[in-house]
Amino acid sequence: MLVRMPEYRNLIGGELLPAPRTMDSVNPATGEVWATIPASGPGEAEAAVAAARQAFPAWSALPALARTGYLREVAKLFERHAEELARLETRDNGRILRDTLRRDLPGMAMLWQLAAGQCLDAVKGDTVILGPDTLGMTRREPYGVAVCIIPWNSPISTFSAKAAYALAAGNTVIVKPAEQASASVLRLGELLAPVLPPGVLNIVSGLGEEVGDALVRHRDVGKISLTGSTATGQAITRASADSLKPMTFELGGKSPNIVFPDADLDAATRGVTVNSVYTGNAGQVCVAGSRILIHRSIWDDLIGRIRAACANLVLADPLDLATTMGPIVSAGQYQHVTSYLELAEKEGAELVFGARVGAEVVPGLPGGYWVAPTLYTTTDNSLRVCQEEIFGPVAVALPFSTDEEALEIANDSPYGLAAGVWTRDLGRAHRFVRDLRSGTVWVNTFRQMPPGLPFGGVKDSGYGHDAVLEYTREKAAIIQI
Ligand code: NAD
Repeated sequence: MLVRMPEYRNLIGGELLPAPRTMDSVNPATGEVWATIPASGPGEAEAAVAAARQAFPAWSALPALARTGYLREVAKLFERHAEELARLETRDNGRILRDTLRRDLPGMAMLWQLAAGQCLDAVKGDTVILGPDTLGMTRREPYGVAVCIIPWNSPISTFSAKAAYALAAGNTVIVKPAEQASASVLRLGELLAPVLPPGVLNIVSGLGEEVGDALVRHRDVGKISLTGSTATGQAITRASADSLKPMTFELGGKSPNIVFPDADLDAATRGVTVNSVYTGNAGQVCVAGSRILIHRSIWDDLIGRIRAACANLVLADPLDLATTMGPIVSAGQYQHVTSYLELAEKEGAELVFGARVGAEVVPGLPGGYWVAPTLYTTTDNSLRVCQEEIFGPVAVALPFSTDEEALEIANDSPYGLAAGVWTRDLGRAHRFVRDLRSGTVWVNTFRQMPPGLPFGGVKDSGYGHDAVLEYTREKAAIIQI
């Protein structure tokens, strides 16, 4: 029997519309095409902006509590369709089902509920008594049309973190998913079309340099939020310079994970392997602790523990709940990651384990983009493999002798997204929280990103973070009575 391939469509003005051209969606575990998605261009960008603009006056004029009601309905939809969406995303980008089903989707309903509760925060202002007859006040207003550009590594989570807050604040929204993995977000468009008024949420898939570029240049777009690479953040800044749009940029990272001799080494081993650069998304996580800094006195012990932990990882079909590490998302990203294996050798980094690829790693899925968990060691943090984001299951371990040296190596990076510190010394923990130049510091834990705390970066890792007030601007009024 011939099974028809799913053909996903854009959501524009409440309608599910095809684009004149399509692109293939590839299952990264097998290398097989399994769906088609729209390859939108400037025409679809124009239509989405027009729809969002038209919907803005009514959506922004709604009382905050009415918007709360809509967002609660979206939260319920995530509960009802959790399993379907988790499986879809796993098939599309290779993120293991263990993570999409058990970690990502359960958090989505909560995130939309939380955003629903914040609709009121977005309309709160201050009152300032300037004199007996003079009143100052502020009011918060949405920007209008917000464009949210998301990457492929966690599409549903990133979609939600942006769209929920942008909508709560009264903006209308256009989401541009990544060309490597758009299916789960386009499916969300189908599910959300009957839930939200037409034009309030629009989704257009296509290439970044085509539809993405057209969106960020558009003069009727009031706000841009990107989660993606530093290079894309820079390109968007240049493209939108003429219209001075406010931006939120959550960009790349090369996070240090620092292990001291007084740490609980069992927990630290889990923190530098299972929960960081190897499992889950095969290192395709912006906060991956891809530089593991180890005190010289525990060097051999910890390297041995990391090797043992990685030997236990199960690389197989990501839809199998027993699988603990999946493939690389696409042919392009596979090439990017494997080029760093060659570079590491050229630069003289010492291989501890891994550096195996393709069918050698998962013989049962020969067409998939597989890279084995890989560890190098070096004493030279200036190597490109220590400075550049690889975005795969490849880490570099570096030794240190003193707290000062650890801090210097950790901060010697163009990035500043996150860092991990493993120690039982409370004073040291607080000093590192203070002195590490990064948006988040985890102490004796890693990769926890609870809603309610800011998540963003410094330096080349970007600025701002997705939260309801980021999608509003303040206006002042001075009233003479
Ligand atoms: P990318 O920058 O290549 O693409 C991200 C998105 O931007 C995609 O939707 C893409 O189509 C779009 N885009 C690309 N060029 C564009 C342009 N010129 N104009 C408008 N849009 C454009 O990143 P990626 O490869 O999809 O994702 C991996 C990167 O994302 C890594 O650097 C990773 O660290 C980063 N990331 C950061 C976070 C965070 O929260 N800090 C989270 C996940 C991923």
